[in-house]
Amino acid sequence: MQDRDKLEILVDWLLKSTHTVIFTGAGMSTEAGLPDFRSKTGLWKQKDPTKLASVEAMNQNPEEFYEFYRMRLATLGEASPHKGHKILALWEKDRLIQAIITQNVDGLHHRAGSNRVIELHGTLREAVCLKCKQVYPPQVLEGESIPRCSCGQMLKPGVILFGEMLPQEALRQADIESRRSHLFIVIGSSLEVSPANFFPLEAKGVGAKLVIINLEPTDMDDQADLLIRGKAGEILDYLNKILKDPD
Ligand code: NAD
Repeated sequence: MQDRDKLEILVDWLLKSTHTVIFTGAGMSTEAGLPDFRSKTGLWKQKDPTKLASVEAMNQNPEEFYEFYRMRLATLGEASPHKGHKILALWEKDRLIQAIITQNVDGLHHRAGSNRVIELHGTLREAVCLKCKQVYPPQVLEGESIPRCSCGQMLKPGVILFGEMLPQEALRQADIESRRSHLFIVIGSSLEVSPANFFPLEAKGVGAKLVIINLEPTDMDDQADLLIRGKAGEILDYLNKILKDPD
């Protein structure tokens, strides 16, 4: 099947679906200049980012842990939502999609104008005290090598680290949206991270059509009703053009 045919099928499904949920991963934001974790270009200083973004790294090697997050914050400071993020925000306004479940911590969906965004892995836009839970702006992570709260305890980026529980309310909301969905579209995720990768299967379990848009094969390609290989921003742009001008 030609790619254009696949895109036309997806547009048809989008127009017919009464509840469409988008599920994004780090590949959604690589075109905004933010590296993902598992592509070749996602590697950082030859270290595995999935090990650096962990509770273990924060406790055992805090200097390297905070250096990693300062680098991510600096990169985020230079990034802006790309056309794909903006198209998803437009589709929400036009009621073509009902929610975005994201594994991303970059806040780019919000910055593009999307409102119904469920952040499963927290956000880089804040820092939190590990003891008294006071919330700080992310700039506090920039200064000292190990940033501390006024109570003396270490501050942690507001993201969920590998080895931590996901926020209960975000999980609950993602569960509701997945169960409601008639069409569930994964964009830019390896689908290797649990429990986030449970939601596409949950949607499929209630009869939703599952679409995966990704640059590389994922662990769940065999579950997809439609597989589209390509870059998130470019594919969303093509889809939006077909929507506006079907001929
Ligand atoms: P991942 O790194 O495991 O996988 C990303 C996938 O996206 C890869 O399969 C890759 O082929 C694909 N990809 C890369 N660029 C793409 C593009 N332009 N268009 C389409 N696909 C593209 O990412 P994940 O599945 O989200 O899981 C990793 C974890 O990393 C998540 O928990 C997430 O919180 C975190 N993370 C977030 C950010 C961010 O917020 N921007 C960045 C890096 C990692």
